[in-house]
Amino acid sequence: MRVPLLDLSEQYRSLSEPLHEAIEAVLAGHRFILGPQVEAFEKAICAYCKAPYAIGVSSGTDALLAILMALGVRPGDAVITTPYTFFATAGCVARTGAKPLFADIDPLTYNIRPSAIQECLERNCQRDSSGEWKTRRGEKVRAIVPVHLFGLCCEMNAIHEISEHYGLDVIEDAAQAIGAEYPFGETAAKAGTMGEAGCFSFYPSKNLGAAGDAGMIVCRGDKLARELRIFRQHGMEPRYYHRVIGGNFRLDEIQAAILSVKLSCLDRWSAARRAAADFYRGEFQRAGLAKKITLPAEPYRDSGLTNHHIYHQYVIRTPIRDALRGHLAKREIETAIYYPLGLHEQECFAYLGYKKGDFPATEQAAREALALPIYPELSREAQQYVVGAISEFFN
Ligand SMILES: *Cc1c(COP(=O)(O)O)cnc(C)c1O
Repeated sequence: MRVPLLDLSEQYRSLSEPLHEAIEAVLAGHRFILGPQVEAFEKAICAYCKAPYAIGVSSGTDALLAILMALGVRPGDAVITTPYTFFATAGCVARTGAKPLFADIDPLTYNIRPSAIQECLERNCQRDSSGEWKTRRGEKVRAIVPVHLFGLCCEMNAIHEISEHYGLDVIEDAAQAIGAEYPFGETAAKAGTMGEAGCFSFYPSKNLGAAGDAGMIVCRGDKLARELRIFRQHGMEPRYYHRVIGGNFRLDEIQAAILSVKLSCLDRWSAARRAAADFYRGEFQRAGLAKKITLPAEPYRDSGLTNHHIYHQYVIRTPIRDALRGHLAKREIETAIYYPLGLHEQECFAYLGYKKGDFPATEQAAREALALPIYPELSREAQQYVVGAISEFFN
């Protein structure tokens, strides 16, 4: 049996008709940029996330970049984030001219560890006479960018406490976590809505995928929302008058129309991913593998929240990951490594001065983590085949 990491064919079959209608309507109306589809999709995201404002943009990367630009992050600033994430998280920070400061992950959740953020601030930074936190080189620490990796929210209560204490903005990279919930303070909140602003990616392989690149920003301040809309269009307001330097960060009407159709399926898809994860767990336990491999942590399962995890990826770990991966490939089971190298060790970030050994939990995850096939339509038969192949490897 061949088991792909992700297979979108079933999703397309089930939605082909409404998708074609939505695309046709945009073509017939020939309004392609910032029209009624983008507006309607922004409203739908506001309602879905319980966010006051949503701004449709061209990708998850551009969402992050636009947020940082609109918050005025610039050369001479520093932004704390995780080294165990997709490149774009730190790439956007660096593109504003600010310096990424890394804080290691929690080895159980793969998410940034709040105590590591605190250590980063206490060890590398100090409060100056004006009360601002500066690095030893004098960069002003502006923000924390937690990444809700693989569909699980970071420990936002602890991160919120740190951000309050040190006077930092929180910008959530929720590219992999649309709809994921967290028991935030007294209430439950959705990924992206717990800080100043949050970003989503609709890259085709994300849980809510466009037919190309697309992204979304959610935020809570009306002033920031207004700025973001201006930054989305070259910093232009009114037309052809540029107060600030923005970019072309616009979401296409066709993508918005497609995403509106798919958004109505998202909770059902997330539930199906969770059911697949539950099935994997049960089968791994039954096969006696739960001690040989580390299964994904579910720290918020008992919170009573439905979307306590949305399983963008189902990631297991083992010290003999590469051998296991080779074995699964022979059995025609596709797997992936997210991520093979921490950002602190990437060539383009050599100028930051980090070295191997600086973030042991990240480096270990980079050696041991393996993503198994997961998507809403994945069959139990295919999952059993995956578990069987892993069992065969360990026995
Ligand atoms: C996918 C992703 C992004 C970037 O989103 P694009 O839409 O591909 O630009 C940013 N951060 C994380 C964590 C991602 O997974």
